[in-house]
This record gives sequence, structure tokens and C-alpha cells, in this order.
Amino acid sequence: MGEPGKSVTALVCSVRCIGLTLMLWHTTAHLFMGTPHSNHSAQHSVHRDLTDTQEQGMGVTTEVLYARVKPPVPGAQWTGVVTQIAVQALETGLVEAVVCVQSEPGDHLAPLPVVARSVADIVAARGVKPSLSPNLNTLALVESLGIKRLLFIGVGCQVQALRHVEKHLGLEALYVLGTNCVDNGRREGLAKFLQAASDSPDTVLHYEFMQARARGRKRGERDSRTQYLANPHMKTLQDYRVHLKHRDGHFEKVPYFSLPANDLNDVIAPSCYACFDYANAAADVVVGYMGVPSLGVDMTQHLQYVTVRNERGAALLKLIEERVERRPPVSAGDRKALVLQTVLADDEAKLGKGPKPMPRLLGTALAWLLTRLGPRGMEFARYSLDYHVIRQGLKNYLHVVRTWGKERAARHVPAYAKQIVADYDAKGAISAR
Ligand SMILES: Cc1cc2nc3c(=O)[nH]c(=O)nc-3n(C[C@H](O)[C@H](O)[C@H](O)COP(=O)(O)OP(=O)(O)OC[C@H]3O[C@@H](n4cnc5c(N)ncnc54)[C@H](O)[C@@H]3O)c2cc1C
Ligand code: SF4
Repeated sequence: MGEPGKSVTALVCSVRCIGLTLMLWHTTAHLFMGTPHSNHSAQHSVHRDLTDTQEQGMGVTTEVLYARVKPPVPGAQWTGVVTQIAVQALETGLVEAVVCVQSEPGDHLAPLPVVARSVADIVAARGVKPSLSPNLNTLALVESLGIKRLLFIGVGCQVQALRHVEKHLGLEALYVLGTNCVDNGRREGLAKFLQAASDSPDTVLHYEFMQARARGRKRGERDSRTQYLANPHMKTLQDYRVHLKHRDGHFEKVPYFSLPANDLNDVIAPSCYACFDYANAAADVVVGYMGVPSLGVDMTQHLQYVTVRNERGAALLKLIEERVERRPPVSAGDRKALVLQTVLADDEAKLGKGPKPMPRLLGTALAWLLTRLGPRGMEFARYSLDYHVIRQGLKNYLHVVRTWGKERAARHVPAYAKQIVADYDAKGAISAR
């Protein structure tokens, strides 16, 4: 157990870890049962500046950039920024172990959190397993193995829980490499989603809700990717399609509007409807895609979206500087009208009153039209974040307030989220729901 080359799961833990495990269970339960977690939406003791447009939604930020690993890590979700940082952190001795998520044997989409102590174990964790993963279980094992320098890879809820207990772990150094995350669910729900979205659900390897698409090239212009790289301020457009990567390497692209939204309400877990941490505000550095314009190339060649929050995050990114291509972020359009429209349409679907799924041809045409009208780049990231905050704010309003009472619900919703809801509710469109 714990030798290099052998990953170890949290299923095997010693008796001295039981106390820690109980504490973790208690902490995780509180995160989604009304105990205030707004304090943890700030990085450590640093609170986000609510008067700053970037920090209000995205959390404490020292740098935002687009980046991709060249050549990409084979089999990674995108180009493998996360895997490459983790490999370098272990190889350079910055850390002794990495908490990451491999797959359950026989089910590549089912998460299996591990304590990785070799490069092979980290590489085996590449790729997203898009369902709830009990990453915190591994901490008991981290403690029992006497690990002192740790890299933890995780989504927002896992990182918040980690921050609650990190002082009890006896670590000399903890680095936290986060990913953005929203609308996650249980493994069973994932199967239902794939059945609805794909013509070949059993061969789906990875998928993403692709967001921004670079404007197509005109006659005589260089291709859009080269053009963006030459001029980072060029306009970008939306894609509005789910990109499903299959085992044989081909991509299937399904317009959002062709998904049966009314039937997919139970795919997202209740905990994710009460989550306000899409930005993963308590990580040192966060990797995602929501603020990056699509350049018309596959995910595996594509720029990723990186938010650096502090010196530890910058140190992690620096580990891969020789293998990474960096670009400045871009932003265009106005998100506000689309946010409200999406919230109202989504709420209708929640009530089972949403429109029927469009035939794919029509859905593709609507996606094409929206690419000409919608927000792009960083403005799309704010669209996505605002929409999820308000939708979840609505959920809190209609569900949490009734179930828990106003006082408890008010403690659960972070200050930044209340501010966003208020911004959009100036004319009462949200509170009227
Ligand atoms: C559950 C989930 C949902 C996400 N949703 C969004 C989103 O809505 N918007 C957005 O912009 N970005 C989202 N991301 C981030 C994005 O999909 C990529 O993970 C990120 O861009 C890193 O890509 P990569 O090629 O560098 O990752 P890779 O190098 O392939 O590494 C992926 C890493 O993800 C970790 N991982 C895999 N499954 C899980 C899991 N279930 N829980 C925690 N960690 C896991 C693994 O440990 C691995 O280290 C999500 C990530 C996850 C894990
Ligand atoms: S949406 Fe939030 S609660 Fe759900 S898995 Fe992602 S970070 Fe956790």
C-alpha cells in the first residue's frame, strides 16, 4: 500500500483514520444542508471584491489566461493542463502524492478517487468522470500514509470541504488544483443523459457543453484558429452544442435545443442545485473551458481557461511553462438579456412545461443563429455563471426558503450570489416566479 506505482483507494483505511472520516462526513453534509459556506467562497482569509466585476462572479483572481499543453497529453479531457501540472508537481518533488480521480474497473465514466504516488497513477486519472466523486474519502489514507506535501485535484464542493479540514491533516504543504464544475449528478443519471444525447451512448469517452465558437473564416482569410492566435481581440461566436468524444476518436455534436430538457430534470443531483461554486473559489488555480472561445478545433487541441488565485496557483502553473502555450482572454457581447431568457426557459422545463426537443436540423439552425447574437469569451463565462447562480437562487427561493425557512436559506446563499440575483431582479422578473 502506498508504494510508487500503486495507487491506493480510500476504501482501505486504518482505525486511526475513523475520526477523520467522521469529521469529513460531518463537514461535507453541512456544505449542502444549510450551514453557511459563503465564507469559503473566498480563498482562505482573502475575500472576493464584490465591487469588481471579475471577482464578483469568478472569485479572487490574480491572473486569467487561456492555455494549452503542446503536444497534448494523450487521452486527456482537453489538452491535459491538469494532468501535466500534477505530473510535474510529483516529478519535481513539490509534492509526495496527488489526490485525483481514476475510473472504477469496468466503467470508465464512474469515478474512483485515489492517492496517486507515481506518474503512471496520475496519468491513469486523466479525463473527466462526470459524476459525483467522494474525493474527501482519500484524506484518511493521506493521513495514515504520513504524507506531508500534497496536491489535491477537485471540483468546488470537494475543495470547500477540504478547506474545512486541512488544518487537521498535519500537512506541511497543500496545493489545490481545481476544475470548474456545474450541473453534476449521480452515475445513474449520467447514463440517462447519454441515452438522450447520443446515437451511441455506450461508446462515449468524454463530453462537454461547448460554449464559444470562433467566427468562421471568409474567403482569403487564414483559418480562424491561426487568426485568433495572431489577433486575440478578434470576435468569437457561440457553438451551443454538446460535443461527445467517442472511443474511435470521432466527435458527435448535438445542439442543446435538441435535448429533452423536460425529461432530464432528475439528471442533476440535488446537491448541485444548491451549489454556488461553479468558479471553484477556494482552489489555488482553476482549469476549465467556460470562458474560452471555441476555435473550431477538437477539445484535445484546444485552448483551456485558467484562473490563478494566489502564489501557490502561480507556482503550479509555472511548473509547465515550457510545455504550455499561453494566450490572453477575450470578451465580447452582452450577457444580460440571454441570462434572464435562459433562467425563465429553464424554470419552465423544471415544471415540465418546457418546449419539446427540436429536431437536430432545426436545433443546429438555432444554435447557428445564437452564435451571431450571444455573448462570447469571458462574457459567456459570466452568462453561464450568472444563469446558474440565479437558477439556483430560484431553487433556493422556491425550495430552500419553503423547506428551511428564510433565515436558514439566507445563511446558505453566499453574498456574491445574492448580489447577482438582485442585479437581475430589479424589475421583479425573478421574485415573481
Ligand atoms: C465533474 C466535472 C465537471 C466539470 N464541469 C465543467 C463546466 O461545467 N465548465 C467548465 O468550464 N469546466 C468544467 N470542468 C472542467 C473541464 O472539464 C476539464 O476538467 C478541465 O478543463 C481540465 O481539462 P484537462 O484536459 O486539463 O484535464 P485532464 O488532464 O484530463 O485531467 C482531468 C482531471 O479531472 C479529475 N477528475 C475527473 N473526474 C472527476 C470528478 N468526478 N471529480 C473531481 N475531479 C475529477 C481527474 O483527477 C483528473 O486529474 C468539469 C470538470 C469536472 C471534473
Ligand atoms: S456542481 Fe457543485 S456540488 Fe455539484 S459536483 Fe460540481 S462543485 Fe460539487
